[in-house]
Amino acid sequence: MRRAGLVVWGAHQVVASIIRPGVTTADIDRAVEAYFAAHGAVPLFKGVPGKVPFPAVCCTSVNDEVVHGIPGVRVLVAGDVVSVDTGCSVDGWCGDSAVTYAVGTVAPETQRLLDCTAGVLALAIELMAVRNRWSDVAAEMAKYVRDHGFSVVENFVGHGIGRKMHEDPQVPNFCTPAFRRNHDFELEPGLVIAVEPMVNMGTKKVRALPDHWTQATLDGRPSAHFEHTVAITETGPVVLTAAPAAGETVGSAA
Ligand code: MG
Ligand code: MG
Repeated sequence: MRRAGLVVWGAHQVVASIIRPGVTTADIDRAVEAYFAAHGAVPLFKGVPGKVPFPAVCCTSVNDEVVHGIPGVRVLVAGDVVSVDTGCSVDGWCGDSAVTYAVGTVAPETQRLLDCTAGVLALAIELMAVRNRWSDVAAEMAKYVRDHGFSVVENFVGHGIGRKMHEDPQVPNFCTPAFRRNHDFELEPGLVIAVEPMVNMGTKKVRALPDHWTQATLDGRPSAHFEHTVAITETGPVVLTAAPAAGETVGSAA
């Protein structure tokens, strides 16, 4: 899974290197598709079943779009934020990661939203080392976002990941009594989950756009999304979609 995670990390470096005003979301998707092909990785998003199968290897969600945006002819302009979510498998094992990119300079409040969302993902990973149950992590994530004056999206959650991209358990970024009672899980070695907070500047409520995929904020204000694939090991959490460590390289050589 680390090898898949490294390729997903590499795909995000490609995105970071090309994103600028004038680029389309389809340009981003094409670059990631070529990168996966060059690294012997199988894209996981293309063909995901829905009313229409998902047509691209990335989700690109711009500004008020929360998740599941479809790449296309939209030209990015300075001040936009675009959440790029992508995943691949290498030798049958999956990786999944999302980053929200600022296009040029964005409004200070929008930058604060990006920092909060990246910050709450980092907090969750830190807490996974010292908490025993996901509910305790999720409750602190929700408090962190609330303390920043933003809202956690509740319609979409993270997930277990392994041979398939979406496996049990569900991994919410907030905690309810019903979750604690019925769906909580232990953070024990061997567990691998995709942790993916989605944070809205305004209301947590979302609406589906007519393309059958894109989810946008109900109030039209911006949203951000950061995701890592994280394994719990005997020595603590390991971020499988993080940058290579010394001696690691991106590629599929067995
Ligand atoms: Mg993802
Ligand atoms: Mg995911």
